[in-house]
Amino acid sequence: MEYNYTWDEFTDADLTELPGEFTMSSLNLSLDVLNQKQMASMWVCVYEYQFWTPDEGQIGAGDDLEGWVLGPPECYIVNYEVVGSNYSPTYTSSYTTNGEMAHYTATSTIATSPTNDPLLDEEYLHALNVVKSELGTRLHPREQNYLDRQLVVTMQNYWFLKKNMFTEEAKDFSAEAVSTEMAFGEVDFEEQVILDKSFIDNDCLYGVYTAMGKATKFKEYLQNFEPNGSIADLRFTTDDNFATNRETKYHNAMAITDAPISSNEIKRTFNTDINTSGDITNKPDVFKAVAMIHEILHAEMYRKMLDAVRAAEISGNNLNWTNWTSEQFYNDFLNSLENKYFGIFDYFTRYNYGILVGSNPNDYQHQQMAQHYRDVVKQALTDYDPTLTATQKEAISWIGLDTADIVAWQILTPSERTAINNLQSQILNTFSNGCN
Ligand SMILES: [Zn+2]
Repeated sequence: MEYNYTWDEFTDADLTELPGEFTMSSLNLSLDVLNQKQMASMWVCVYEYQFWTPDEGQIGAGDDLEGWVLGPPECYIVNYEVVGSNYSPTYTSSYTTNGEMAHYTATSTIATSPTNDPLLDEEYLHALNVVKSELGTRLHPREQNYLDRQLVVTMQNYWFLKKNMFTEEAKDFSAEAVSTEMAFGEVDFEEQVILDKSFIDNDCLYGVYTAMGKATKFKEYLQNFEPNGSIADLRFTTDDNFATNRETKYHNAMAITDAPISSNEIKRTFNTDINTSGDITNKPDVFKAVAMIHEILHAEMYRKMLDAVRAAEISGNNLNWTNWTSEQFYNDFLNSLENKYFGIFDYFTRYNYGILVGSNPNDYQHQQMAQHYRDVVKQALTDYDPTLTATQKEAISWIGLDTADIVAWQILTPSERTAINNLQSQILNTFSNGCN
């Protein structure tokens, strides 16, 4: 499609006097090339600029953007496949309306040009269309429209999806990423970590996270400790209503990591409810640092269990084994866990048999952390605050693990346990808290 007017003429023109002149010219798809005869698929898309105003409800409430935006594309995948010795084209429409068609308002006198110059960029248009098509109904129409004017978000998601071969998990994460960025959160595509706005806005909590080097650094700690360690699909959020939303037995916890039951997202919720004893904003920053790494360890264990699920080829990438058959749980899953992550298998079978899924935090994980992972906590603390003494680090590395049912804690002598608890109290009462 070639237009007989320039972009400047288009933007300067009054809405009622657009020069509607264009020329159609055919595309040369070059399908005579031998290897393309075997199998070829191409995107053919038609885009149209539409004038959108917020008062007509096409754009999200509170969003006062107004102007020319790309309308929903009409795209087709053109597939050429070998049929016998011949090949013939099949046309498949993958276009779905986004449900929010723009209205053309002849009475409006406002005509602003798109603020997003890259909208005209061919690579961007391609990426935009691929992201929208691949994510499909995972995106709300409002999120689809949001992408129209967010070059960076679109390209980040495009490259992320491409790098991850457009797997279902990658699409799930990408859709969460778009939703989060639209809600002013942060997404770390490299580590697959989502930070909710509430977490970022909590300056003292986010400050500790940043000072600890963000997810990349956490990942390093785990990799040093255990090869192949990595963190995936993590969400950081906060909860001001922890007392209402969580069982009483968790109210003294600074944070909680939910098992990935309904999806493969592992959510870490920090307790910011001032009406609970666990309120993390009421604790020294070194306690917050311990909570961060503690929850990362939970997440890492869950991630490995998810990986075992995937390796066992059990459908549904989550840990909701109440939906599985005995065969899937006892043979497929446990065998896979045993082969891939023997440590987790060992603790899981020793401490979690018969315990209903969904109970958080899971004790088998605390048993394993207390026995094997306190060095990771101490290493993170060393980097976070080099002035901490070895005794102090030893004491606070027990936070969240110093309970009667934890075997590694039980085998300490009573005087060792008292000394650790006393030092924890002293640090709790005297160390600085950035939230104050
Ligand atoms: Zn825990």
